[in-house]
Amino acid sequence: MTRYGSVLDTIGRTPLIRLRRVTEGIDAEVYLKAEQFNPGTSVKDRTALWLVDDAVRSGALGPGGTIVEATSGNTGIGLAQVAAARGYRLVAVISDRISVEKRLTLLAYGAEVVFGTAGVPREDPTSVHSTAVRLAAEIPGAWRADQYDNPANPRAHRERTGPEIWDDTEGRVTHFVAGIGTGGTITGAGGYLREVSGGTVTVIGADPVSSSYGGGDGSPFLVEASGHYRHPDTAEDVWPLSYDTGVVDRIERIGDRQSVLTVRDLARREGILVGGSTGLAVAAALRVARDLPRDAVVVALGPDSGRAYLSKYHSDDWLRTNGFLEDGTGPLVCDAAP
Ligand code: PMP
Repeated sequence: MTRYGSVLDTIGRTPLIRLRRVTEGIDAEVYLKAEQFNPGTSVKDRTALWLVDDAVRSGALGPGGTIVEATSGNTGIGLAQVAAARGYRLVAVISDRISVEKRLTLLAYGAEVVFGTAGVPREDPTSVHSTAVRLAAEIPGAWRADQYDNPANPRAHRERTGPEIWDDTEGRVTHFVAGIGTGGTITGAGGYLREVSGGTVTVIGADPVSSSYGGGDGSPFLVEASGHYRHPDTAEDVWPLSYDTGVVDRIERIGDRQSVLTVRDLARREGILVGGSTGLAVAAALRVARDLPRDAVVVALGPDSGRAYLSKYHSDDWLRTNGFLEDGTGPLVCDAAP
């Protein structure tokens, strides 16, 4: 189909792209599910549409209402798209660690942007999460989309992303690799693929080395929008309800350096411009695929486009400043695993 009634109807049906050059020495087929082909250029277009549709159905969001959400940028952009197309107001709470491109994109869609503190756990009163909770209580009639705890988030991926991967591989997919932010993607798509395959698909989380999802200490890392922080004073993590750990067979822990160098490789050797969490997922997929036979089919989900990170992962200055180009180590380089 090439004619659509609204930009929102173009969400989904993203391509599965075979990786040909970064896979040198690997026998298995490795594909990138390229979510940057969504109109808002990320996987979060799907989540945003499902969250809003669900809220309209339940009556939580009325005509002309205000949407409030804490976001690493992409859910905000997805929601901004829906808000613009359907006549809602959007207040997006982001941290100052989010790329300037994402902040400007939110403003371009007419969203209002509020800052919360980066690199702190959700329960911190200044976190983007706590700030969004406060604003949603203060603004009359506001609805907080709550991607972290709203079941409509994983449902988007169970109903669409997972089935697309199954159909496009004609049921041959054997391994599914995705990062974990809210956990919506891996829970929904991974859960679906496990079920439809009768349990033969292995679901692998790709996680920054210091993220606490994969057993790290929860200290900061550079790849934005994936992983989980833990406050040094907090013994236990509060993990999002959107993340069902039961669907994940194992987690591959990937250092920042490996993620950003994979991002660079994808641009320069495959011609695919992606963001840091795609580098994370593909680095994990390549590590997994190295030990797999010829008939294995590995699908890595790539959340977004490199256009949002030209001043970060695609900038030699930024790479040098953070110690990724030379042997030196930058302040946040935590490359424990090979
Ligand atoms: N990468 C990027 C760029 C994202 O925006 C997100 C979502 N915040 C993720 C990864 C993680 O996806 P999920 O929230 O579905 O776990």
